[in-house]
Amino acid sequence: MKKNLPVPFFVALFLVLCFSGNVKAAAFQDVAANSWYAPAVTYCYEQGYMNGMTATTFAPEVAMSRSMLMTVLYRNAGAPAVSAENPFFDVVADTWYTDAVLWGVENGLVTGYEDGSFRPDRDVSRQELMVFLYRFLSYQDKVPEGDGDAALYHSFDDVSAVGSWAAKAVIFCTSCGLINGSDGYLLPLDSSTRAQIATVLQRFDGYLAGNTCQITATAGDHGKISPAGTATLVDGASVTYRFLPDSGYMVNEVKVDGISLGYAVRQSVAINGANHTISVTFKKKSGDPNSGYAQLVNRSYPIVNAASYVPNDLTAVSYVYPGKGNQSMRSAAAAAMNRMIADFKKAYPGYPLYTQSGYRSYATQQYLYQNQISKQGGNTYKAGTISAVPGTSEHQLGLAMDVTTNGTLLQSFGSTVQGKWIAAHCHEYGYILRYPAEKQTVTGIIYEPWHFRYVGVDVATEMKQLKVTTLEEYYDLYLSSANLNPYLPYLK
Ligand SMILES: [Zn+2]
Repeated sequence: MKKNLPVPFFVALFLVLCFSGNVKAAAFQDVAANSWYAPAVTYCYEQGYMNGMTATTFAPEVAMSRSMLMTVLYRNAGAPAVSAENPFFDVVADTWYTDAVLWGVENGLVTGYEDGSFRPDRDVSRQELMVFLYRFLSYQDKVPEGDGDAALYHSFDDVSAVGSWAAKAVIFCTSCGLINGSDGYLLPLDSSTRAQIATVLQRFDGYLAGNTCQITATAGDHGKISPAGTATLVDGASVTYRFLPDSGYMVNEVKVDGISLGYAVRQSVAINGANHTISVTFKKKSGDPNSGYAQLVNRSYPIVNAASYVPNDLTAVSYVYPGKGNQSMRSAAAAAMNRMIADFKKAYPGYPLYTQSGYRSYATQQYLYQNQISKQGGNTYKAGTISAVPGTSEHQLGLAMDVTTNGTLLQSFGSTVQGKWIAAHCHEYGYILRYPAEKQTVTGIIYEPWHFRYVGVDVATEMKQLKVTTLEEYYDLYLSSANLNPYLPYLK
């Protein structure tokens, strides 16, 4: 062993090689018997793919490096003899991982970086992991026929973050259930922990061994399930299905093995070695989101002919904060807003709650936007997340109202009695809290606990039932699978 190797080399060596064979997997103090990864850790330990980090610990949360992953795959392949020349300036001869990397080069698993490096100590990102698995399958001639399930792939919310070089492998790994994502996200740039990789390796062996189980998915008329039809999945996996109603329909009910899961549009199902049947029924939706009060307006979908658009039924609203002039909304929205504030005041006498800013003309928007650009030192993007770009504000629709307790619009409003009550009850009046804190990447707008959008009681109630909190996602529900997500600006 060379004496002048960098410290990370020894750390990595320590993780992979030390304490091999000294301990039973069950004895790892940091792998609780009931943890989700315990079976996979035991499996990979017993197969000789992975060892402990110390005599008594496995370090399930530690990220895995590229050299460690190649070593694990090399062991999985039976550690055959290698003869390839070493093309990498940063892979030293005769290290614990040299043969694994050269085996990878010899068999097309490893290509390295353009500068001639392999970067052995770098964490494996999730998309790199999928590429390595895909190439490993090609090496074993086990890549299945077909193109995989592109619709499932596109249903992940962060699919735009996947590198084009990795897309094919990611489609494959998600299609066959090796990687399921996390709550609808692929997280392609995240590193992978040792526990995650142990789990994937166990699934992978199951896949290679043909240890699969069947899920039969059925959809009624007016909708599709992605992945469609019968899917072959690895035992022990979970899979995310997404339900895609045709235009004009919504999900009515989802059942797994006859048990109702209600409205959920995106559903994860655990696969435990048996056949499971997912069935979905659809129903005609209650309102057309493309017209009327639920019209989607955002940065990608400005108001048509915005410079001249003025609603034809603007009506003054009550409870305007002193000094804020006359505020108006379209008549249905104004009546509902007045009722909502009156009902709050009945429930909480003495608590102040006012309307502050309703309909805004195109000219006013231009003025506010230019002001914000100056405030943000000329940064038009940042200005646009605070003040809408002219023509993209719901306030011009006459369907949005900013409410206040004291004449200010602050995010702390969301944790006041008033803010909590109106957020909880607004759907009863046909309103939604339009820019939720956890959906800033979807709306492109900061958390605005004061901004309420009238969509009508039918749509607001439906969104509540579906647990869909933004109009962008609501629109997404009504698209056919052939036309996934064009309304979502963050997917472009
Ligand atoms: Zn507003």
